[in-house]
Amino acid sequence: MAPAFDPATREALLARVRFYRDLGLTEFYRRPVDPALLGAESLQNLSAPEPALSLPKGLASETWDSTTQPALQEDKLIPPRKPLLAPPEIADAVPSADRASALQLIREDIGDCTRCALHKGRNKLVFGDGSPNARLMFVGEGPGADEDAQGIPFVGKAGQLLNNMIAAMGLKREEVYIANVVKCRPPGNRTPEPEEGNTCSPFLFRQIDVVRPQVIVALGATAATYLLGQRQPLAGLRGRVHAFRGMQLIITYHPAYLLRDPRQKKEAWADLQIAMRELGLKAPAKG
Ligand code: URA
Repeated sequence: MAPAFDPATREALLARVRFYRDLGLTEFYRRPVDPALLGAESLQNLSAPEPALSLPKGLASETWDSTTQPALQEDKLIPPRKPLLAPPEIADAVPSADRASALQLIREDIGDCTRCALHKGRNKLVFGDGSPNARLMFVGEGPGADEDAQGIPFVGKAGQLLNNMIAAMGLKREEVYIANVVKCRPPGNRTPEPEEGNTCSPFLFRQIDVVRPQVIVALGATAATYLLGQRQPLAGLRGRVHAFRGMQLIITYHPAYLLRDPRQKKEAWADLQIAMRELGLKAPAKG
């Protein structure tokens, strides 16, 4: 049986696992561990993360709701190696005037969805938000607690940072389109299981094909993985433009990761500047 970790150790382990995930490392293997090695001393060591990986002061409760975090179970937290769905064929273009109703049709097709297990913990399904004619689209991973409560993507702490990122690009949130790989909140904000991502991502592809933005920004490893249909470390995907279904795909860090490690904001800003260059946008004047 898995050992019961104290809350600080569990939080440190979760932070470590998320850090690896943000780097694109999603496969972990569990080795049998001699119970004698799981003594108090080794657990103490685990509860003191390396400085570079520790959560910024004051952000712990924003990124980890320790009251709703599940007990650490690697096999639950880390999706096992299962094939990802290949991205579907590109759908026919929808005239701008019909895009809102085309999106509505996708929402109706999703309906009161029970296609995967995520529906069991759902309060509100989070479909998407923004302009059906957006030139820029952001793709996240899946709803968190705030999004699940409101039915709108990126309205929590990570959403506030995303709003700031959008404003820094000289755009208003209503001008872009925002959607997630999965439309229902994974329990404890864990990474969606491949079954869940594979079940839900076809709806994301349909949304993308309707909106057909010029540029898509994938936020984090999960979004990049499902859009590209393959797992690759985020580090090798950032900083450039990927050709994607006739659009331009730029991959950057997830805002939740930036909240945990604000030093990476510079890198994310560099990625957003690539998007701005492609869109012909100039950063708004300061002041
Ligand atoms: N994180 C996501 O990936 N999507 C949201 O909608 C909110 C937080």
